[in-house]
Amino acid sequence: MTKDELWQATLAQLQFQISPANFATWLKNTYILDKKDGAVVVSVPNNFSKEWLENKYNKIVFKILRNLDGEIKEVGYAVERSARQKEPSRPSLAEQGENQLEFQELRVDKSTNLSPRYVFDSFVVGPFNELAHAASLAVVKNPGSVYNPLFIYGGTGLGKTHLLQAVGNQILKDFPQKRIRYLSSERFTSGVVSAIRNKNMDSLRNMYREIDVFILDDVQFLAGKDKTQEELFHTFNTLYEKGKQIVFSSDRPPKAIAALEERLRSRFEGGMIADVSAPDFETRMAILKTKSQEKNIAVPDEIHEYVASHIQRNIRELEGAVNRLIAFFKLNNKIPSLAEAKVLLRNVIQSPSKFATPKRIIAAVGEFYDLKEKDLIAPSRKKEVVRPRQIAMYLLREELKSSYPFIGKKFSGKDHTTAIYSCEKIEKELRDSESLVEEINLIRQRIYGG
Ligand code: ADP
Ligand code: MG
Repeated sequence: MTKDELWQATLAQLQFQISPANFATWLKNTYILDKKDGAVVVSVPNNFSKEWLENKYNKIVFKILRNLDGEIKEVGYAVERSARQKEPSRPSLAEQGENQLEFQELRVDKSTNLSPRYVFDSFVVGPFNELAHAASLAVVKNPGSVYNPLFIYGGTGLGKTHLLQAVGNQILKDFPQKRIRYLSSERFTSGVVSAIRNKNMDSLRNMYREIDVFILDDVQFLAGKDKTQEELFHTFNTLYEKGKQIVFSSDRPPKAIAALEERLRSRFEGGMIADVSAPDFETRMAILKTKSQEKNIAVPDEIHEYVASHIQRNIRELEGAVNRLIAFFKLNNKIPSLAEAKVLLRNVIQSPSKFATPKRIIAAVGEFYDLKEKDLIAPSRKKEVVRPRQIAMYLLREELKSSYPFIGKKFSGKDHTTAIYSCEKIEKELRDSESLVEEINLIRQRIYGG
């Protein structure tokens, strides 16, 4: 076997062991540079691929190589300068045509509400979403039997909708006879409202009860909507008893959804709950590279690094950055320089307003608990306000190192002892309550990411 054949055979096997997005990101433009005395050196285009391969994939790469050639004892990776970024070329007409086709395909299917854009192939997996991804794949393999319901939660722009839709798309592909329905919670609600108004609840119920895979996105919006919750509860029970798969998403775990009927909460909690959190730096790089590659533009690493180090908590914003780079490329027919990219991305990159300020913290807490800011600040002793207020005080202390008198003053001139009491109380609770830790992290995501 020549070096090239050996590597082709290795890649062919690797392809089955890692996700297509990771494969495309880390293994594109790699080849065997050298093979001598049982040592193989793989050429990789940049340091990120090198690190990633060394740290994450070295074991499987080595195993495959060794199976193919028993002489091989070790494998290393080298960045070969001459193999670096070739001049980017403008997409050919054929490619542009392809893009248009892609654009047409983006239409959402009317009966399932699934968009062909959201598939597992384009979903980058890292430690921050591994569990949710694995649970989704398990559901796809055996709809209705392993994790039912599957409940995925996490902050905005972190891939919940993408995963939910990918579950739907994949099941549709593997089990074409299954009836799948993806719905946003707003749509589910408006369906219930209009069925009540038009007095055709029965037909709505029958329609939902015919479904094999029911996917409901952003269920936090059902908070306080009693009639809708009741309908969902009955729909859930019918589907569940028939062994149909149900998938939910929310921006917070079930126990943190206020104004949710207890019986529905316990249904949400009855299956598998998995979270998605913010991606680490390596995965942010992987996502940027995947997105640039999807669009056929060769963005230099330094720009990706710049974006990945400035946009940290929201994958949607990472995508927004890539789209700006693409727009520049189309307009000017050249890849922007780092300086140009910085100007281009000024509005997307975490601006100072994305840093915590007292105002942002109070707004985020209010939003999370569905309270008006003025109620949060006012001196009310109502239970549903007291605790969020304590959390807001705690966050002012933690995130901004605000003084206790300052914190007291922010909340209609409360005494500094109230601020101390609140912060200590929350701190103490945090030691025993994982759910509170989670809750506060979700609020942090809003402060910095939203
Ligand atoms: P959410 O529903 O959690 O607010 P979305 O699923 O809408 O977030 O994701 C926001 C954008 O980021 C989408 O365009 C999605 O395709 C993209 N995205 C999210 N997670 C990933 C991922 N792990 N890999 C690739 N793209 C992702
Ligand atoms: Mg979403």
